[in-house]
Amino acid sequence: MNQPFSLFLSRVVASLLAMVLALSAIGLFLVWAARSVDQEDIRRQGEIAGYALREIRTNLSHNQESSTFWDEAVERTAVSGNDEWIDGNLGSWMHTFFGVDEAYVLDGQDQPIYSFADNQIKPAGFFEERRDLLRPYLQALRSKLATEEAPIAGSHEQSVGVSDYLYVAGQPAVLSVKPIVSDSGRLSQSISTIHIHVAIQYLEGDVIRRVGQAHVLQDLKFVPAGALDPDAASVTLTGDTSGATVPFEWVPYQPGRRLLASLLPILALVASTLMVGTLLISSASYRRKLDRIKNNEHIRYLASHDPLTGLPNRAAYEKAADELVDQFSLHQQSDPLAFLFMDLDRFKQVNDILGHQIGDAVLVEFARRTAGILPANAPVYRVGGDEFAALIPHRTKREVEQICSEIIDSLAEPMEIEGRRAFIGVSIGVSMAPHHGTDRPELNRKADVALYHAKLAGRRRFSIFGSQMDDAIQNRAAIEADLREALRTKIGLSVVYQPKFASDGDRVLGAEALVRWQHPGRGAISPVVFIPIAEEAGLIGDLGLWVLETACREAVAWPVDHLAVNVSPIQLRDPEFVEAVSAVLSRTGFPAERLELEMTETDFADSEEVGLQNIKSLNAKGIAIAIDDFGTGSSTFERLRDISFDRIKIDRSFVKNITESEGDAEIVRAMISMAHAKGLKTTAEGVETPEQRDVLRAFGCDELQGFLMGKPMPPTELSQIFKTSAALAV
Ligand code: C2E
Ligand code: MG
Ligand code: MG
Repeated sequence: MNQPFSLFLSRVVASLLAMVLALSAIGLFLVWAARSVDQEDIRRQGEIAGYALREIRTNLSHNQESSTFWDEAVERTAVSGNDEWIDGNLGSWMHTFFGVDEAYVLDGQDQPIYSFADNQIKPAGFFEERRDLLRPYLQALRSKLATEEAPIAGSHEQSVGVSDYLYVAGQPAVLSVKPIVSDSGRLSQSISTIHIHVAIQYLEGDVIRRVGQAHVLQDLKFVPAGALDPDAASVTLTGDTSGATVPFEWVPYQPGRRLLASLLPILALVASTLMVGTLLISSASYRRKLDRIKNNEHIRYLASHDPLTGLPNRAAYEKAADELVDQFSLHQQSDPLAFLFMDLDRFKQVNDILGHQIGDAVLVEFARRTAGILPANAPVYRVGGDEFAALIPHRTKREVEQICSEIIDSLAEPMEIEGRRAFIGVSIGVSMAPHHGTDRPELNRKADVALYHAKLAGRRRFSIFGSQMDDAIQNRAAIEADLREALRTKIGLSVVYQPKFASDGDRVLGAEALVRWQHPGRGAISPVVFIPIAEEAGLIGDLGLWVLETACREAVAWPVDHLAVNVSPIQLRDPEFVEAVSAVLSRTGFPAERLELEMTETDFADSEEVGLQNIKSLNAKGIAIAIDDFGTGSSTFERLRDISFDRIKIDRSFVKNITESEGDAEIVRAMISMAHAKGLKTTAEGVETPEQRDVLRAFGCDELQGFLMGKPMPPTELSQIFKTSAALAV
């Protein structure tokens, strides 16, 4: 399960669930409380209903006595001919006033003398239909009379009686049987003369409705047994003698439920507020936690990544290197593992000249191009400002070399960034396990040494570590120290001059100053070796100016058109360079128009603002510019279009093959004709054979330089050449 989702579950869903549970518990409690209140109330309603229904029975007996406990009733019923009176007091009247449904008057032998039923006077014999039903009650009353039982104490009844619940013709009813007796006690009656009054009241219709209304028992009614509504409240009356059960039901009043119903909207509002609140609080907490997690992830990402390029950083590189080396030794693989260190050439200048923004973009673009070349399982790491690294497993030395070449070539095209063109190169150092070591520090160090070597060898190249490199580095450190010393004392340093001839004859047109160093212990060291060391060590400025001053002083009186002096790109980028050159010219009295400064084309490409400005200033002073080693770099005339210069010096490598390779000959011819088309002069370097000279002459090359005509030589020797040249010219 992904982290945000499980976090969402634990924060938001869990909180909501907890809230739902809490609310449900409260809800259940409220329902339970309401139920309990309702049950209690229904129980109470049952008591009231029972009491009220039983009251019908006591009332009936009590009401009956208003006519049966009366001297006049005894006298009127004892003789015949009082039918009207009997009906008015013991029949219809009771029906009208007390709601009695059936009334009967029986004589001392329980023979009917009066019957009232169905809202009318019936023939007295109608009683026979009830006799069987009533027999036990009549007997009970007679026996109470026989034993002269007293009326029930506390019942407010004046005479004994029998009453019960029972079904009369299928209808529930209350029955009361009373003797018609003297209220004054003046009339003496024997049991066989005591008349009996029977009153029956149906427990249906108005009488029950009234009880319901009086006691707020909604829809109180009799229900036949077995037909009770399960939702209704009920109470059952039971006949003492008949054993009849008479159930009543009503719609119960439920205060708890009502309260709950009236509170429901408020409760719902409170519940939904709590739910929304919980949702808001828990999702805020979820978001906070998520932010924290993301921050932590971001911090972890930053710890292992470079924010600018998005590449894994040095820490990530070291971790990956350790892991790969571990795997490597674990499997005892002979399959190689390559460590690549890549360093951008002259990145600092790109930054200084084009600005940091473009510098950053260059880094990003380099990372993009390189990632496209490296195998998918070998990411690019940014291990320093302009330093990158890669770890390539399972590739042969040849394959690694191929990859390195591709990376270097991928930078041949300039990067177009915000309308500016940035030329950048890369140098690569490689070490390979197991050949060069099997632990990270050793492989790192050797890749670094190889990188250093690649840089020294002229940049834009790669080198694979070799044991000689370690020695070379130590050697180099020693040479640097000695060069510094030589520059201080000038002991061992000298300048030689190589004459340059017009191609159409033996006339000397100029001379190129070339520095020489006679090392006290090592003998002569080539400028190819010590010039890059001087550049690296920051000594080239002083060295170059010393050569310039020496050459200007020595050549000031020479009969040549121009003196050529080599300039390092590092000198060219020095904003004070032009001033220093001017100072040399004025000190030595050498005319600016006769000075030609040689720079390699790659230097031009890299030089940008300050260099261009310097070249403009030099031009303005009349100093000529020659492009040295023309054709070796990746640049062309097109690339040099922004620079104004005077001469190209076709590199020795082309001249060397000019007589053997038609292709090279064609290239040289094209270079010369293009240069001429642009108004530039041409010099061919390294002419060693008469054949080369003849071809170059045929191509129209203006000037030739090489061992064929003259090696670099001390000024004294050069004087000889001048003499010969002058003699030839005469
Ligand atoms: P470069 O400026 O191209 O100088 C020409 C190099 O070619 C010189 O090597 C020269 O001796 C050599 N050369 C001339 N003709 C022939 C030939 O026919 N055959 C062969 N095989 N070589 C020939 P050198 O003097 O060893 O200088 C090497 C490089 O060192 C120079 O190349 C130049 O780039 C640099 N350099 C020499 N002196 C200075 C200096 O004072 N300042 C700077 N910045 N660089 C210098
Ligand atoms: Mg040169
Ligand atoms: Mg050259």
